[in-house]
Amino acid sequence: MTDKDKIIEWDKKYLWHPFTQMQDWIKDDQLVIERGEGVYLYDTDGKKYYDGVSSLWVNVHGHNNPELNDALKKQIDTIAHSTFLGLSNVPAVELAKKLVEITPDSLTRVFYSDSGSTSVEIALKIAFQYWHQIRKPGKKKFIKFINAYHGDTIGSVSIGGMELFHKMYKPLLFETIVAPYPDYYHFSGNLSEEEYYETCLNELRHEINLNAGEIAALVVEPLVQGAAGMITMPPGFMTEIRKITSENDVLLIVDEVATGFGRTGKMFACDHEKIQPDIMCLAKGISGGYLPLAATITTEKIFEGFLGKFEEKRTFFHGHTYTGNPLACAVAIKSIEMFEKNNLIKNVKSNSAYLESALEKFNELKHVGNIRRRGMMIGIELVKDIKTKEEFEHPGLTGHKVILEARRRGLIIRPLGAVIVVMPPLCINKKELEEILDITYKSIKAVTEG
Ligand code: PMP
Repeated sequence: MTDKDKIIEWDKKYLWHPFTQMQDWIKDDQLVIERGEGVYLYDTDGKKYYDGVSSLWVNVHGHNNPELNDALKKQIDTIAHSTFLGLSNVPAVELAKKLVEITPDSLTRVFYSDSGSTSVEIALKIAFQYWHQIRKPGKKKFIKFINAYHGDTIGSVSIGGMELFHKMYKPLLFETIVAPYPDYYHFSGNLSEEEYYETCLNELRHEINLNAGEIAALVVEPLVQGAAGMITMPPGFMTEIRKITSENDVLLIVDEVATGFGRTGKMFACDHEKIQPDIMCLAKGISGGYLPLAATITTEKIFEGFLGKFEEKRTFFHGHTYTGNPLACAVAIKSIEMFEKNNLIKNVKSNSAYLESALEKFNELKHVGNIRRRGMMIGIELVKDIKTKEEFEHPGLTGHKVILEARRRGLIIRPLGAVIVVMPPLCINKKELEEILDITYKSIKAVTEG
């Protein structure tokens, strides 16, 4: 048996993969990635693929990047990890300073963890405890949006809204208030786009006005609802959300786990409309896609709500073992420096301009119902009938077939149901982007029209 065969056999024998029906996994041939270089991944046969989803929306500067590698090697020769509970470390402090400098001015305090889910979990606990400690203990409910996705831990699932992923756990979840995320394509009523958005805002306003005394915070994926299928907000919507929450003394938690670090064409989605949130959740791209790292950043006012004498027990009793990991923080510092050095946001902007026209071609395809994009976050929704928007019988299966076809043609992408997601590393050049779109186009055509 070759090494490759052994790995595949052991994978099927010993592993349980995330979001995966293992009965199918064990039956099928599986791809094993051995190395990466720039925007490419290589499997154990040496076959090359484009990393069309940035290894699940995380990769920024490409794989095996010499500068990030050097930062990691330099740190590993110093120390790999020491605890952040009762001690500090150099890269974690330096990164916190950088994060405060690059995030909106309202945010001044960094609390580390290691995944998007934990960054959100922490935001919820901070918001809840904050109100309690400033003597407004009645404020303990959260507003979430329909189809929201904030991670897989029980707290983040409570503020999620995706039936397929979340319904099972309902008996374990805390109560929330639900507001409509502006999603005009899937709206079946008889309103113009403007009227529809106004209706969404009115509903939100109504819920908040009705319950303001009981609401701790509103949690939102700003500009793009990622896992829901790249649902994009209209301009001005975030501004209104900030206005409504501020007027009603409701904290605004922005989950920038997916949108943060350049994906939408600015460093953060909040930057488009100069939103000043109360709490921001960051993960994924924070370490350039190298290591698990997350941050929950709050205002000074919230931070001060936790100060007091030791005996008062106002402490935030939360912390994960690998919090503030020096390796991850050292790479994150280098990654942020490289944004500037490589003019990465400019690259995203010029690629966005190219995508704006290049994606037009997909409208020629018979089953492309809707194309949504913000910066480098693209969702191409496939439907059985573009006029009636009728779905395929098994939307997830159609999406899966398309990505397998793309894989045969040298592109790794991952669908969300029948939405084909394309989200390449931010460092990608035009030629590579053009090729990714070409493969995506041909794969959709082959599966849905073939
Ligand atoms: N929030 C958002 C907006 C996300 O898109 C995700 C993951 N896709 C998460 C939170 C959870 O992040 P993680 O998988 O790192 O826990």
